[in-house]
Amino acid sequence: MSVIKGWCPDAWHPMAAGDGLLVRVRPMMGRIDGAQLAGLCDAAMSYGNGLIDLTSRANLQIRGVSERDWRPLVAQLVGLNLVHADPVMEARNSLLVAPDWKTGDDTVCIAAEWADRLAEFPDLPAKVGFAIDAGPAPLLMGKAGDFRIEPGAQGGLILRAAGRPTGAAVTRSSAVDALLALAHWFVASGGREAGRMVRHKAALPDWAQGDVAAATPVLPLRPGRHALGFLYGVPFGQIDAATLAELAPHAIRLTPWRMLIAEGGEGRAIDGLLHDPADPLLRVDACPGQPSCSQASVETRALAREVAPYVTGRLHVSGCAKGCARSAPAALCLTGREGRYDLARHAKAGGPPQRAGLTHSDILAHLGVTDAACL
Ligand code: SF4
Repeated sequence: MSVIKGWCPDAWHPMAAGDGLLVRVRPMMGRIDGAQLAGLCDAAMSYGNGLIDLTSRANLQIRGVSERDWRPLVAQLVGLNLVHADPVMEARNSLLVAPDWKTGDDTVCIAAEWADRLAEFPDLPAKVGFAIDAGPAPLLMGKAGDFRIEPGAQGGLILRAAGRPTGAAVTRSSAVDALLALAHWFVASGGREAGRMVRHKAALPDWAQGDVAAATPVLPLRPGRHALGFLYGVPFGQIDAATLAELAPHAIRLTPWRMLIAEGGEGRAIDGLLHDPADPLLRVDACPGQPSCSQASVETRALAREVAPYVTGRLHVSGCAKGCARSAPAALCLTGREGRYDLARHAKAGGPPQRAGLTHSDILAHLGVTDAACL
């Protein structure tokens, strides 16, 4: 086993965290059927600490796995067809798809060909990924994906490199050829050194430049009824396996917005999942904090739950200045430092604080959660 210290582990290369190894699962088409889901939850309880993360790339991460249990866990995931038996192919399996795909549509057909031809792609930096978002309007705008297939503003599909405002027209049958060519160009032109497409400043080849804008994106999904079933929110993107297993009669689809779709679900209330689109926890980003992360000096998520109803706009609670849970500014940002919190408004984690060195009680008082005097 090789443990990667970066941020994009896969099942064969787990990442060490404060509570053990993180083992990432990247199901094809972001879908897990009922039997797979029951098996995955059982594996998370048997070999991990029972906690599962839903990531911003619509992957799952089984937490708290010991080095001794890692190999039997991966074997079980391979048996469930949730992890590729070949570590090289699993490392390349970095695809985000629009979660509202329907059998036989462009997203499904292009993703299936992409998976069939995975061996033809070059090895890419661990954080580089693909996005296939080929429905009538883009759903994944702003989400991970260095090489993207999206609907064009005038109809049809485009190939677009992340960081470029426009793309080149492609068709369902030419899309994977175009993705392959762009990935090989990326490597040949020094993209590995840049690390991500958005940082790679080399001029695109003529055939990939194009001047076609993507179609106007649709509004983000919200918890509630969905054409495919019911959409649940996952607070902080973390769920315990026993709760997730309650959905096991259904297939689920993962989304990059800390939400999942229960196919055919009717919205049964499940403790630990959010079904109200007005729930304040939907406006919160909070990393695992203490004790899960060794770099955290403060607890994060219990505090976030406590203060979320008292914050207007986005709330970010970060265990340290790294700000793993959110890279953009939030209306209110609380950053852990030396066992206390720094408070900043309209700021990123670690930004210049307006109040520094606050205790838990200080923050409650400042936000009017208790009767204590305001700071
Ligand atoms: S922001 Fe800091 S404390 Fe939170 S998960 Fe990242 S490294 Fe750990």
